[in-house]
Amino acid sequence: MTELKSVWWHENPAPAIIDYAKNVCDVAILPIGAIEQHGPHCPLSSDSANAMGIAELIGKKSGAVILPCPMYGSHPYHHWGVPGTIPLRFETHIEMLCDIVRGASVAGYNKFIILSAHGQVSSTIVAVHKLGIEGHFVLSMHWYDFLRDNKDVLEDYMWHADEAETSVALYLYPELVDMSLAAPGEGEPLIDPKWKIAPGAAAKPGQMYHFEGTFARPEKHEIAEGGNGVVGDPTKATREKGEKLVTRTVDHVCELVAEIRAKYPVGVKPQTN
Ligand SMILES: [Zn+2]
Repeated sequence: MTELKSVWWHENPAPAIIDYAKNVCDVAILPIGAIEQHGPHCPLSSDSANAMGIAELIGKKSGAVILPCPMYGSHPYHHWGVPGTIPLRFETHIEMLCDIVRGASVAGYNKFIILSAHGQVSSTIVAVHKLGIEGHFVLSMHWYDFLRDNKDVLEDYMWHADEAETSVALYLYPELVDMSLAAPGEGEPLIDPKWKIAPGAAAKPGQMYHFEGTFARPEKHEIAEGGNGVVGDPTKATREKGEKLVTRTVDHVCELVAEIRAKYPVGVKPQTN
């Protein structure tokens, strides 16, 4: 049986990666995040670090190979122009995701999961469909969508640099978190929040998906006026909550990988074109 040196694609030599796809597992996971301000208490790399930390655990448990995380992400309109945040244009991000999947497929990988720890469905959905037309099987998941049934862990839904994200940070990279600087914050909604589905909330009839409109006042104005760039309450974050969220997310994705591997054995590519 082919053994990999590491679950990370880039930490193996090419022959091992090729052999693994041919004989063991041809599922590859691409963790994606962002370089984005996460308040005064969390690092700019939070979303990418969350994606990488979760993906690494998924790789170890499921057998899927983990592609290197591109770190930069795409951003909704209200994130632009904020110091510290480095957004990619949607077109750049979509093409980058497509090129990564195209490139990895050359080594024999037939099933892909894009695992995002940052709100960037605006580009992942387009990338998935572009790749599907070309014959690639690609699923895209945003980790906060796994939080819908975690009301026993979290007091609030998933926002930004908040209870959920900070808890995961405290579990995965506590050395980069300064809880003495954590304080609640609030983004300013342009319409009543009842009209949209909060990230991690179950949908009610007639609600818009949270990316389906210009719902928020741009973050740069709030920060220029002295806001802390947080939406939600990171003071409620704990390492224990983070461990539960990470473990549930890992188990959820591992279940999906197991199902894909059982239904489409190594070498079999689900037909998309
Ligand atoms: Zn984040």
